Amino acid sequence: MATINKNYLKLPGSYLFSGIAKSVHEYETSHPDADVIRLGIGDVTQPIASAVIRALHAAVDEMGQADTFHGYAPDLGYSFLRDAIAREDYQARGCDIAADEIFVSDGAKSDCGNLQEIFGTDNRIAVCDPVYPVYVDANVMAGRTGEYDRVEQRFQGVTYMSCTEDNGFAPELPEEQADLIYLCFPNNPTGAVIKKDQLQRFVDYAREHGSVILYDAAYEAYISEDDVPHSIYECEGAQECAIESRSFSKTAGFTGLRLGYTVVPKKLVIEGTSLRDLWARRHGTKFNGAPYIVQKAGEAVYSDEGRAQVREQIAYYMENARIIREGLADAGYTAYGGVNAPYIWLRIPEGMTSWGFFDMLLDKARVVGTPGVGFGPHGEGYFRLTAFGSRENTIRAMERIRKI
Ligand code: PLP
Repeated sequence: MATINKNYLKLPGSYLFSGIAKSVHEYETSHPDADVIRLGIGDVTQPIASAVIRALHAAVDEMGQADTFHGYAPDLGYSFLRDAIAREDYQARGCDIAADEIFVSDGAKSDCGNLQEIFGTDNRIAVCDPVYPVYVDANVMAGRTGEYDRVEQRFQGVTYMSCTEDNGFAPELPEEQADLIYLCFPNNPTGAVIKKDQLQRFVDYAREHGSVILYDAAYEAYISEDDVPHSIYECEGAQECAIESRSFSKTAGFTGLRLGYTVVPKKLVIEGTSLRDLWARRHGTKFNGAPYIVQKAGEAVYSDEGRAQVREQIAYYMENARIIREGLADAGYTAYGGVNAPYIWLRIPEGMTSWGFFDMLLDKARVVGTPGVGFGPHGEGYFRLTAFGSRENTIRAMERIRKI
C-alpha cells in the first residue's frame, strides 16, 4: 500500500500567495467594478529587453535546423552562459569562482528548495525571520523540522534568526548550533541588506561550526549602495562553507522564461565529500535545467546592449520603490527597504494584524499587498509592498493609500 510523506501535512493551510489570491478573488467577485491594484505578489510587469528577445528568436531558428539543433542541455548548463556568469558576476567583482562551479537551473526557487536534498535530515536549519518561505517549506517537507506550533507561528526544531527594526533587519549569529544557515540578502520581504563585516561573521561561524550557508542573492542586481556585498564570496573563506543561488527573474524579467543558477565551490567539502559532486548528481539534472533557447536569452543579458536595457528596467522599478517609500512617509507610515531591493516593508498601525491590514487596504484603497506574517513570526506587524507594478499603477496606489 502506498503511503504519503506525512511531513507535507505539517505545512499549515495553503501557500501564502494562494491565500492572497483567494482573498482577492473573493473581493473582486463581490465588488465586480472595483479597480484592484496588485502590489503584492513579487512578479515583474515590464516586457523582456529587446536584446534578449532577439537572442531568443535566433535560438528558436537554430532549433529548426539540423546542424544547429540542440537537444538535452549539458548537466551544468551551456558553457557560453556559465563563462559569462563566472566572468561578469564573480571574477569582475574579485570573487574567484570558476565556470565549472556554476550550475544553471530553471530558477532560484527550485534550487533553494532542492539544495537541502544533499544534506542529512538530522541537520538543524536556521533561517532569517521574516524571509521568503521556500527554505522552511522545503525543509519541512524533507522532515528536517518538528510540527508547526500555531500559537508561536513557527516550526519546532528550526532556529529563527529574528530580523527586526532593532538589528536593522540583519540577524545575529545563531545562539545554538545551526548546520544549514539560510541567508537571503537583499532580503525578501524586508528589502534590507547585510553589511560585509556582518556577513563575514556568518562565514566565520560556519567555518568554526562546520555549517553550510545557503545564500540567496536573487535580488543582487538591485543593490545601489557601494558598501553592500553582492556575493557571499566577497567574504574570506566563503568558498569553504557557502553555496549561492541567483535568479534572472527579477534581474531581467525571466519569471516566465525561467532561468537561475547556483554556485557550489569545489572547496566546499563536508564529511570528506565534495558538495559540488553531490549537487551534480541531483535528480532531474538534464530535465530540470533551462532549455537552450532560455540559456541563449540569459547570455544576451550579459551583452553590452542587454546589460544597458536590464539596468534601465531595474531603474524603472527602483523609481517605483522611491514613489512607494515617499508616498508611505507622506501617509505617516514608517517604512524600510526600497533602496537596495524592490521591496518596501512598512510597519502597520498598532493593534492591527498584518492580515487585518491586508483586508483594510483592499477594502479602502483596493490595493493588494502581502501580510508580513506570511514570511515568518517576526513579520507580524509589517506589510510588504513591491515595486514591480507599472508606474501608473504605483502612482495610483499611493494616491489611494494617502487618502485612507
Ligand atoms: N529567492 C527569492 C528570495 C525570491 O524572492 C524569489 C522569488 O520571489 C526566488 C528566489 C525565486 O526565483 P525564481 O523565479 O528564479 O525561481
